[in-house]
Amino acid sequence: MLCRICKSKGRRTKAVIYIRHHKLALCKDHFIEWFEKQTAKAIKEFKMFKKEEKILVAVSGGKDSLSLWYALHRLGYETYGFHVSLGIEGWEYSKKSLETCKKFSERIGRPLIVFNMREEFGYSIEEIAKGSGRKDICSVCGTFKRYLMNKMCKERGFNVVATGHNLDDESALLLSNTIRWEIGYLGRQHPVLPESNGFARKVKPFAFFTEKEIVSYAILNKIEYLETGCPNAKEATSVLYKRALAMLEHEMPGTKLRFYKEFLKKARPLFEKELKERLELNECQICGMPSTAPICLVCRTLERLKEEC
Ligand code: SF4
Ligand code: ZN
Ligand code: ZN
Repeated sequence: MLCRICKSKGRRTKAVIYIRHHKLALCKDHFIEWFEKQTAKAIKEFKMFKKEEKILVAVSGGKDSLSLWYALHRLGYETYGFHVSLGIEGWEYSKKSLETCKKFSERIGRPLIVFNMREEFGYSIEEIAKGSGRKDICSVCGTFKRYLMNKMCKERGFNVVATGHNLDDESALLLSNTIRWEIGYLGRQHPVLPESNGFARKVKPFAFFTEKEIVSYAILNKIEYLETGCPNAKEATSVLYKRALAMLEHEMPGTKLRFYKEFLKKARPLFEKELKERLELNECQICGMPSTAPICLVCRTLERLKEEC
């Protein structure tokens, strides 16, 4: 297969990727150009951030977050990586994630901010999840990571956090929220969550790229990412939704993109109207972060763990 753009210019260059749902075959250079243009387009279309804003990029060491950091850096944004070291034991996952992020930050010459859970809180995320009494470790992990991203933004003067969520993540989340008719979550699902009540703006510039497109971008740019995911990921129910959507995508290319884009255009505005008034938030008496209760969920969990010891 030949690159469509090269072909239109009278050159015969072999394509390295065929994007089925766009019916687009591209060579290495044109794929990278296409990918970065699409990233810039999503940032502009959804008004994610401006050129003069400094951006905190949440990085895990995986393909999505490191590719996002790379693409934003290449597009000329002032980026800072932020890595939460969770202290996960299995397969030495946390150590390797941190090493991978550090190496990448050196490669692109941008600073990496690290928050080490064991050192700062005295517990790993697994110990915190156990002590919290909540069964789903991923939801505890999500709460802590969101909290730390907001805290970092507040302390270091960032207005915006970018995460590497891709189309596979977003469409799986949408399917899960739709099956359970989670009106509140459906009203909030969007590539941009505006800043409010002292929380930073959250943006997802890769929300329209499939995992395959991101892996290709990472490989073609020789990004060294951690291929083994978090050992706790296999327990996540989102894996089932991803599998179901992959099956549909295989039979009907473009399903995921259509599902998500049409939702944003046609359905989300209806759910958004249903959202209740924003809750009044106070400052947590321990850490000072916004909270509905006098003491925030993270501080409450950590206090409980201390009492148990
Ligand atoms: Fe955290 Fe779960 Fe993701 Fe592992 S898979 S990093 S525990 S949210
Ligand atoms: Zn080409
Ligand atoms: Zn607190």
